[in-house]
Amino acid sequence: MVSGSTVQKRLTVDSDVARKSLVPTRVAVPVLIALYIAILVLPVTAAWLQELPPRKWQDDLSSGLAMCAFAGIMMEFLLSGRFRFVSSYIGIDTTMRVHQLIARTLTITVLVHPFLYVTGTPNYPMPWDTTRQASVDFGPTCVLTGLIAWLALIIVVAMGIFREQRGGSYEAWRASHGIGAVVVAVFGTVHALEAGRYSADAFLAWFWIAMLAMAMFTLAWVYLVKPIWQRQNPYTVRSVRRIADRTWELVVAPARGDVIPFEAGQFVWLNVGHSPFSLNENPFSIASAPTECGQLAFVIKEVGDFTRSIGKVEPGAEAFIDGPHGNMTIAGRNASGIALYAGGVGIAPILSILRDLRDGGDLRPVLLLYGNRAEEQIVYRDELQEMTLLLDLEIEHFLSEPPEGWNGRSGMIDEAALDEAFEGRDVAVLLHVICGPLPMIESIEAALLARGVPSRQIISERFYYD
Ligand SMILES: Cc1cc2nc3c(=O)[nH]c(=O)nc-3n(C[C@H](O)[C@H](O)[C@H](O)COP(=O)(O)OP(=O)(O)OC[C@H]3O[C@@H](n4cnc5c(N)ncnc54)[C@H](O)[C@@H]3O)c2cc1C
Repeated sequence: MVSGSTVQKRLTVDSDVARKSLVPTRVAVPVLIALYIAILVLPVTAAWLQELPPRKWQDDLSSGLAMCAFAGIMMEFLLSGRFRFVSSYIGIDTTMRVHQLIARTLTITVLVHPFLYVTGTPNYPMPWDTTRQASVDFGPTCVLTGLIAWLALIIVVAMGIFREQRGGSYEAWRASHGIGAVVVAVFGTVHALEAGRYSADAFLAWFWIAMLAMAMFTLAWVYLVKPIWQRQNPYTVRSVRRIADRTWELVVAPARGDVIPFEAGQFVWLNVGHSPFSLNENPFSIASAPTECGQLAFVIKEVGDFTRSIGKVEPGAEAFIDGPHGNMTIAGRNASGIALYAGGVGIAPILSILRDLRDGGDLRPVLLLYGNRAEEQIVYRDELQEMTLLLDLEIEHFLSEPPEGWNGRSGMIDEAALDEAFEGRDVAVLLHVICGPLPMIESIEAALLARGVPSRQIISERFYYD
């Protein structure tokens, strides 16, 4: 067990995260942001450099906004979460939040695009404007392609926002989201090439074609290339066992060779019993340690269609893995003390981290705050207890519905609980890793920030991907 004074040792955290990747995060993230902004403003810059005759400011504003927005929309394909060079640097949560925020912002911009053209004095093709350089083309192809892309974008974004309220299967929503996005990309590109005053320029025309090719490549990568690779590298279910109320442990092993290399804390998309070309796959954190190279273990909580059927999966069933993804790892983060927070099944990636620390003989002080509703929901209790003998580990169990005679903590892992757990300790110098329900993550993050922990020392992941 770790005493308060042990954790109070002078702990330092290297925020720059010398991750086991080629490019450090502190370099990669600004480069990715700069590249993104450059691509967004490139079409407007190219249009401006054409020095075409002036026209109504509303028309140019409309064209400029539409070009920026459409470039951003095409970049959304890259942000859809399956590209490790994006999500491993900024994390899957941030990737998806950015994806949604950008989609919603750009949609508002695109919404006003057609209306700006019809404001002010009319600018239909004038007899004197034979090259149509000073007027807007309202020809049927231009209007129709623009209208289709415009409506499809609104529908795709609205369906994303109201996905939960609408109900229905996640797989059906994902298929419709993908098809809608392709309609926006294809018709939007044709519209830009046909109607765009500036896109008639060869450079801009090639830019839009390249963006469309990039968008189609990302789809081909996720739905064709990866499944082909998965089919050549199948896994087999080794065991399935119930470990707590509505909670299962699933272990898979590669049919040949080693498991995929990963860092403790990462997750994969798991497909059990379906073709790798199907959409039936779900994200799950790996609960085993990377040192266990012969197999991958998962802790799965029953929620919906797939997770409720886990108990029926037979050993020997075929499985496919896409990953690893995510950046909720402590690997490469030069912290000399770690605080782990797990809520319910959020223990899965935390287990992987703890098992990795144990297998690596890591003796840094670690504090685990593990919250559940009821005592029977605590998983791997004995293994966790054993770890306290092998690691410099202290565990605090929290139950929101404690049984009589419970000698752990009662209630949630809230501000008061944190103050108690860290009493006399310098919380600001620890690396904090949080996984669990969103309200738990948000309240712990807010409490840590209020206590002076720099945000770069807090890493978290919520088990929700939309
Ligand atoms: C990064 C990450 C790691 C996770 N790790 C774990 C874990 O270790 N253990 C665990 O029990 N749960 C984990 N989850 C949650 C788990 O993915 C969902 O509970 C599971 O997918 C639900 O599937 P279902 O078919 O049973 O339920 P459904 O009713 O079909 O889905 C419930 C919700 O789960 C999400 N979901 C479903 N299918 C997918 C999909 N293909 N891709 C993305 N999201 C989907 C959607 O938000 C959906 O609304 C994790 C989620 C994420 C994002």
